[in-house]
Amino acid sequence: MYLAELQFKVIADTDFTRAEIAIRGYIEKLIFSGQVLGREFPTAWQQDVFSSRIVIPEEQALLHKHHSTPGLYALQQLATAGLAYPQLQLLGMDVMSQHTDPCEHADNYILYSRFNDTCSAVRCAEHFAPIPLYKLIPHGVDHEALIRWQLQFQALDEIQMQETRVLRKGAERSLQQLHSQLNRQGRKLASQLERDNNAKVYFALYSGSSTNCAHEFDKQCPGCGNNWRLPQPLHDLFDFKCDNCRLVSNIAWDCQSPS
Ligand SMILES: [Zn+2]
Ligand SMILES: [Zn+2]
Repeated sequence: MYLAELQFKVIADTDFTRAEIAIRGYIEKLIFSGQVLGREFPTAWQQDVFSSRIVIPEEQALLHKHHSTPGLYALQQLATAGLAYPQLQLLGMDVMSQHTDPCEHADNYILYSRFNDTCSAVRCAEHFAPIPLYKLIPHGVDHEALIRWQLQFQALDEIQMQETRVLRKGAERSLQQLHSQLNRQGRKLASQLERDNNAKVYFALYSGSSTNCAHEFDKQCPGCGNNWRLPQPLHDLFDFKCDNCRLVSNIAWDCQSPS
């Protein structure tokens, strides 16, 4: 991922509020198309230019061709608000975030997220590296539904990772039960991506704790009841995989002996 600055020069009569609405509208659309990562974009006003700090998945992420239709519309709205075409200045690699997948077109994908990710929730199944969402055909005009799902997943994961957890069981149930609202939505998004992109999309089912650790190592697939244990863990993370149900998962963290 790259850290960059996006600059919006004021070229016509405008006021602060109009400019701010146009910039916010534009960057939000870049987030929903996967061109900008995370959800915060601190923006400074410097003489005649607004400068927003953003993280992007690739150096070429903001090319015109990667824009969604709403993104192109928001780009036009910048001019209406008295702002010039935005200028991108790359500041360098973001050392705090993951590297983008090297594949031009990955064969299969895994939908996976954790609370501290600053990257797309779609990973290449071979390299387990994040895929910029603009490389995938969206189900609607852009990937807003997937981004919003990821935000909720990360918020719940953040809650259950805290030592003094205020909602531990509720958050964990949402994350690890196959039929929770969160996971139903996630699996639906995965199957839409699969159909639209003609590639297998697995859903990573989180597993944190278990009521029966003795049984945890040979548990069955929660979707179809079949044996789904892998001979070797995949990406040092997934011990289970079901091709029928398009699921991958792990031995519950609480049941794994410390190595
Ligand atoms: Zn790959
Ligand atoms: Zn299954």
